[in-house]
Amino acid sequence: MTTGYDDTNVFAKILRGEIPCHKVYEDDHTLAFMDIMPAVDGHTLIIPKVKARNILDCPPEALKAVIATTQKIAIAAKQAFLADGVTVQQFSEAAGGQEVFHLHFHVLPRQMGEHVKPLPRPFADHGILAAHAEKIRAAL
Ligand code: AMP
Repeated sequence: MTTGYDDTNVFAKILRGEIPCHKVYEDDHTLAFMDIMPAVDGHTLIIPKVKARNILDCPPEALKAVIATTQKIAIAAKQAFLADGVTVQQFSEAAGGQEVFHLHFHVLPRQMGEHVKPLPRPFADHGILAAHAEKIRAAL
C-alpha cells in the first residue's frame, strides 16, 4: 500500500545533514552522492530536494531538475570510470523494488560484460567511496 512522504527516511536525513554522505554534486534543487552499497564502482544516487516519495508523486518541475542532474552525473561517471555505458534505474514503491522512500535515480557506470553485484550487497569502504566521489566530481 502507498503511504505519503515519511520525513524519517534516510535520504531526508542526508538532506537535513543529520547523517553524512559522500557528496558528488549539489545545486538548489538536487543532490548526488555515492550509494553506500554499490552495485558497481561509481554507483551514484541523485535525489530532488523536494519531499517526493518516488516518481509517482514528484512535481514535474522537480523531476525535470533531477533528470537533468542524473544526465550530468551519468556523463561524468562514464568519463571518470572509463566506462563503456551507463545504466540509469528508478524504483517506485516496494513492489517496484524501492527500499528508500525518497525519490532517487541510480547511475551505474558499466563496463562491457561486467555484471552488477546481486542483492544484498555489502557496505563499501568509506575511503573507496570518497575516492570514487572525487573522481566523478573531477569529471563534472
Ligand atoms: P532503492 O530504494 O531500491 O532504489 O535503493 C535504495 C538504495 O539506497 C540502495 O542502493 C542502497 O544501497 C542505498 N542506500 C541506503 N542507505 C544509504 C545511505 N545512507 N547512503 C547512500 N546510499 C544508501
